[in-house]
Amino acid sequence: MVNVTFKKMPEGQKMPAIGLGTWMSTNEEELVSALDAALEAGYRHIDTAAVYFNEALIGKVLNKWLSSGKIKREELFVTTKLPIAGMHPDRVELFIKQSLEDLQLDYLDLYLIHFPVGTNYVGSVVTPPDQIQVETNDHLEIWKKMEEQVDAGRTKAIGLSNFNQRQIERILENCRIPPVCLQVELHASLQQKELVEFCHKNNLIVVAYSPLGNPGYNKFLESVGQDGKELPNNLQNPIVQNIAKKHNKSPGQILLRFLIEKNIVPIPKSVTPKRIEENLNVFDFSLDEEDLEQLEGLEKGEEARICDFKFFPPLRESPEFPFPL
Ligand code: NDP
Repeated sequence: MVNVTFKKMPEGQKMPAIGLGTWMSTNEEELVSALDAALEAGYRHIDTAAVYFNEALIGKVLNKWLSSGKIKREELFVTTKLPIAGMHPDRVELFIKQSLEDLQLDYLDLYLIHFPVGTNYVGSVVTPPDQIQVETNDHLEIWKKMEEQVDAGRTKAIGLSNFNQRQIERILENCRIPPVCLQVELHASLQQKELVEFCHKNNLIVVAYSPLGNPGYNKFLESVGQDGKELPNNLQNPIVQNIAKKHNKSPGQILLRFLIEKNIVPIPKSVTPKRIEENLNVFDFSLDEEDLEQLEGLEKGEEARICDFKFFPPLRESPEFPFPL
């Protein structure tokens, strides 16, 4: 089994330094075989969200592994997220309880606010487009409710996703329990150096979503009726491919190792067992200074952002929309 390293969290918990992403994994057969392959290979860190509509399936598989005794609950690290429709102090408890029920868990390891902008709630995890209203509720009020979930034992830790530096600072200055992590889009073409430095200085673990540059993203855009966009495509980049050849690794492994060397936790998604195994095998080699310099040179800044949430236009009306428009 692969020897995965850990990131220490403030209360002594440990986050495995790589996790399995599960966005766009809703096909039962595919997701079950992916999770089985991942757990077999040695993944213990699973990332999901209420809006991925797969918590119940993940719960079924985890329950199978836990009840068979093949893994213990304390070996697992499960993250899920408060949806945009849950961004109201009165809805945090409702949504975390639903996630726990679906995941068949007594507690989460990490509960994140998914996005700094919220919408109205009409009884479904995602508010239908024809009923949507953007709601800008005070982050501090919502954070207090997140802290209460730790007090109640429903989650070991709490954190943020897609928040910008100003928004994180405000929480840090006013919280009782600080966020342990920031989960943001981060890959060789969007390295977010300033934000990473800020997080590390303030003891937030940085978790990288779309660490491979999500080559499947245009399928998602198509599914919501939007045109595809140009993607970073670093898996095919000759610089990455040459470094891969040099280390006898795949381009995907190079892109993931690049983040690990920067003290960042990648959560690559795959439903392909061979790739799942490959993506975990990144702890037995290192990149040298020349490799790192070349990979740093792939930075393209904001123009390389993939998941810009522009597929959800009302969110951009909020003063709390976190990315440059
Ligand atoms: P990734 O960068 O992880 O890319 C996933 C895509 O890459 C899939 O199409 C997968 O195909 C393919 N792939 C995986 N491994 C390889 C490989 N070794 N070689 C070639 N192709 C590969 O993108 P995601 O956007 O999915 O990000 C990862 C996770 O981060 C998500 O699944 C989710 O859990 C989280 N996330 C969080 C967000 C947030 O707002 N907080 C937003 C977006 C993602 P296949 O599955 O067919 O193998």
